[in-house]
Amino acid sequence: MYRLAERLYPICRSITGNGVRETLAILKEIIPLELTEVPSGTKVLDWEIPDEWNIKDAWIKDMAGDKIINFRDLNLHVLNYSTPVDQIVDLESLKEHLYTLPEYPQWVPYRTSYHNRQWGFCMSHNQMENLKDDNYHIKIDSEIRPGALTYGEFFIQGKTKEEVLISCHICHPSLCNDNLSGIIIATFIAGFLQTLKTRFSYRFLFIPGTIGSIAWLSRNENKLQHIKYGLVLTLLGDTSPFHYKKSRRGNAEIDKIMEYLLRNESNSQIREFSPYGYDERQFCSPGFNLPVGRFSRKPHGEFPEYHTSADNLDFVKPVSLGESFTLLLKVIMLIENNLKYINLNPKGEPQLGRRGLYRQIGGESRQKDYEMALLWILNFSDGDNSLLDIAIRSGIDFPVISDAAQKLQHSSLLSAC
Ligand code: ZN
Repeated sequence: MYRLAERLYPICRSITGNGVRETLAILKEIIPLELTEVPSGTKVLDWEIPDEWNIKDAWIKDMAGDKIINFRDLNLHVLNYSTPVDQIVDLESLKEHLYTLPEYPQWVPYRTSYHNRQWGFCMSHNQMENLKDDNYHIKIDSEIRPGALTYGEFFIQGKTKEEVLISCHICHPSLCNDNLSGIIIATFIAGFLQTLKTRFSYRFLFIPGTIGSIAWLSRNENKLQHIKYGLVLTLLGDTSPFHYKKSRRGNAEIDKIMEYLLRNESNSQIREFSPYGYDERQFCSPGFNLPVGRFSRKPHGEFPEYHTSADNLDFVKPVSLGESFTLLLKVIMLIENNLKYINLNPKGEPQLGRRGLYRQIGGESRQKDYEMALLWILNFSDGDNSLLDIAIRSGIDFPVISDAAQKLQHSSLLSAC
């Protein structure tokens, strides 16, 4: 996963353009993504697909001809969606187009201007403070013209039509935790799931933030009824604890699952829904109100490196990506196994010993949990309670409950609803 981060990191992405296409082409080496191009000017819900932005090069040269800012060293140096420019300007005029972070004077900020046409550069505050009062040659070799918005989608057909939606944004340039970590975890989970036979169908979206989810939603309203679980993945590569933001519904199955799985993760936090953040804003807009929550580590805007050059390959750790991947696998295991059952012998307890379901000789505590699980499942499998409900109520780990349910099913004491 970290190797993929290293490959994707240098690419200059935006909400449209060749950086997105290049990124999706690399992901296609791992999963068979289907690409969609939505032409500029297309109406999508209340929005319109913007003109496409591409950039070849950009720099600021001093009068000696030395490049003091070079887009090729760090693509954050250019205001994302900057208009082209090629001018000699004095320091005062240049400063009107410079963005810095005085509170973190060594870092370069990430800034965008998707809707207001302007040019601009980002640099460290220290560098700006040291600029000589002189003229500068500035050049941004970019273009904004009608093109398309590109997104990638990968669908895995399961046994049922019911779907799990996993979404991540692909519009950030050289930022590693915000953007790349979500892309990478989604790609590797998708790569793993395509080797399995799953109960649910899985839909993975690799979309530019906001406008991408709006474009996808506007073109796929007929599919939304199948979405039973959903997660927006972002900020999963740093070392901070896990966070889960609930869906707008607040009591969706995915909310219950995440609360259950994060209860044992140290310092993890569950937050209520709010109409701000990532693409959960669109999926949970009232007209859709999908059961989609957001899985991250420390949320956006709550760590200093957010949207700066310090959100780089050092900030993201392989071990953190691994932990996030593992947690997401647990979520999927739980979704796949969280069935509701009916006790086929509900009058009095069935005799378990006769069926070889009780141990013959006393044993370890997991065995005790397992036997208690049999009783809990038999008692609460009335068609209303899922295995997760029973796990929560009994305090017995879900894998033990799931295991015991399978044994009961094999003994014809339980039938899946
Ligand atoms: Zn961001």
